Amino acid sequence: MMENEKLQVLLSKMTVKQKVAQLLQLNPFYFEADRNEEQITGPMTDLHVTEEEIGLVGSILGVPDAENARKIQNQHLTTDPNKIPLLFMIDAIHGYKTIYPIPLAMAGTFNPAIVEETASMSAYETSTQGHHVTFSPMVDLVRDARWGRVMEASGEDVYVNQEMARAFVRGYQGPANELHGNQEKIAACVKHFAGYGMVEGGREYNTVDLSRKELFQNHLPAYEAALDEGAKLVMSAFNLFEGVPVSANTYIFRDILRERLAFEGVTISDWGAVKELVYHGVTGGKEGAAELALKAGIDIEMMSSCYIEYLEVLVERGEIETAILDEAVLRILTLKNDLGLFENPYRGLDLENKELSEEHLDIARRAAEESFVLLKNDEQTLPLNTEAKVALVGPFAESDDLLGGWVIFGKRDETPVLATKFKETFTNATVVPTADHQTITDAEIAEAVAAAKLSDSVVLAVGETSDESGEASSRSNIQLAAAQQKLIKAVAEVNENITLVIFNGRPLELTGIEAYAKAILIAWFPGSEGANALTRVLSGKVAPSAKLTMSFPRAVGQVPIYYNQLPTGRPVDAADADAAFASSYLDVANTPLYPFGYGLSYGELTITDWSIANTQLQKDEAVSIEVTVANTGTTTTSDVVQLYMNDPIAAVSRPIKELKRFHKLTMAPQTTATITLTLLYKELGYYDSQTNYRIDAGELHFTVGFDSAHVSERKTLTVKEGS
Ligand code: BGC
Repeated sequence: MMENEKLQVLLSKMTVKQKVAQLLQLNPFYFEADRNEEQITGPMTDLHVTEEEIGLVGSILGVPDAENARKIQNQHLTTDPNKIPLLFMIDAIHGYKTIYPIPLAMAGTFNPAIVEETASMSAYETSTQGHHVTFSPMVDLVRDARWGRVMEASGEDVYVNQEMARAFVRGYQGPANELHGNQEKIAACVKHFAGYGMVEGGREYNTVDLSRKELFQNHLPAYEAALDEGAKLVMSAFNLFEGVPVSANTYIFRDILRERLAFEGVTISDWGAVKELVYHGVTGGKEGAAELALKAGIDIEMMSSCYIEYLEVLVERGEIETAILDEAVLRILTLKNDLGLFENPYRGLDLENKELSEEHLDIARRAAEESFVLLKNDEQTLPLNTEAKVALVGPFAESDDLLGGWVIFGKRDETPVLATKFKETFTNATVVPTADHQTITDAEIAEAVAAAKLSDSVVLAVGETSDESGEASSRSNIQLAAAQQKLIKAVAEVNENITLVIFNGRPLELTGIEAYAKAILIAWFPGSEGANALTRVLSGKVAPSAKLTMSFPRAVGQVPIYYNQLPTGRPVDAADADAAFASSYLDVANTPLYPFGYGLSYGELTITDWSIANTQLQKDEAVSIEVTVANTGTTTTSDVVQLYMNDPIAAVSRPIKELKRFHKLTMAPQTTATITLTLLYKELGYYDSQTNYRIDAGELHFTVGFDSAHVSERKTLTVKEGS
């Protein structure tokens, strides 16, 4: 590994133009596609770049495979007088070739260990194809199911978001100081700093207006967690903060990220976000955009050409100090060095290829099995008897759209469809697929109804398609397509044993159809092994154990709806004459249809006892909470014990309930277990409106349960001394 001084020497030998090149990231098709518009000349066609041109970039986004990675790196090194290897970056968001469930589904496992395992598998495959950085995890806190990108998030809870951020980073990078020698790992780029999850109305790329207090309390903690695990890069978001686009926001990048969070790694803009400063109306052109972004602290410009066109001249004119440019370049050189690229620019390329190997498919299957959320299971409809006559009906019965919205290299045609696995397990299965999910013909409905009549039960595989969630896929209507609702109702008329298996990238509004089903299983987008995993869960080989990390609303008009809301001055259950003027709707309850933390299994665990070990807490002491759980049933069952806290009196209003710890348990029949949940003194505080973190002396209330809506009686902890 190169010494830091050697990097400094290297930097001192570079011309301004060469330094600026380090700050540019393009994809291999870019020059050809946007050449005229962007004024960057050169035929970067078919991934072949001329010798002079490859020196214009410091990193590449989206090289298609190992062979091209090798070729481009090779060409670059022959061209670049300083022999600084290129960095290759990619969006491997939930797998590379072997795809595991979308991040929202992975969060619902409440199992950081499996999240880490999947991320590690993804890092391996990504590395073997020549990439060094993944643009993951996305840790934006989300509360609005209309926003398509909730599928990439961990949901509405700060603590879950933190734990998942940690798990992803550990999985991708391993111990941060070992990245150099460990070619199976890649660097993690945590995104989108900051506040992107709060786009108004859930409309993609929309304005965000967020207070500093909210930013610190709810949005930064997952970044802090990711950085604490050693995440090497941070990506800027597209949105505004306090009116200034974050990609030009000195408060966000310099004051918070560099100063308060002490981040020393590389920052990168989101795709085109530097150029977008012009459209945000904070500068008149690309030159101004380059100046604003670099000064604000954006090291690499992704997919626009403001830096490459203007930084050199801005530095020459003295409008940008060389020191600012040098800092950014040095951080990029340090990252390349940390990855061991100076010693081996072809890192990863010689590793054994394990894409879709048995080993990796096994991980993807286990992850999928653990990510399905059972919302309803009346009369123990599930699991289904494998000998019964079961009809598998609907648009997802034979769809290969199981991988999800952020899949670049996973192949749908290599993904088994549900019907195939289903027929292998259910020997008396009839399959009636529909061709489309929006337009279902009367003939298809008639055929489904006929099959339903002849069957003991019906599994309706319905949902939204993967391109209906994800980036640039916001929806104002989050119900199933009308045609699918019609299909469900028609089938339910002739067969009452209906199971809905729903594929989705976001919480859906299920109010209109849930009454027609006895069982509802949320499949999300389950990845390469989705069909296999689903069949194993439907047949009872494995029991569902996931929980929602985002509330499912009763009506889209309730959105944003989240369990950790602040109290109002007009609580809905106020037992006084003012109750009629409560904070509520006239036409729908305040509660969601299915709350945060909710999800059933085939068995049931019970909390039989719990206690706070030390109810009088001195400064810097930890508090231990013991919870005893019993499985009185006849089947091995998993569930997630959830510990919630409420701070009833503080300088600012605090959430009516906030998750502080969770613990997933798997228990054999007729057993009991006692777990201890430990909270540190420093975790008991909050941010006031001046963004000071404070811990007050006084009472805190705790509750425990298996979901956020059904919790125990509260117990009180007294904090003796604040800080
Ligand atoms: C997305 C990022 C992504 C980047 C690169 C952008 O449009 O917002 O999340 O990492 O593209 O593909």
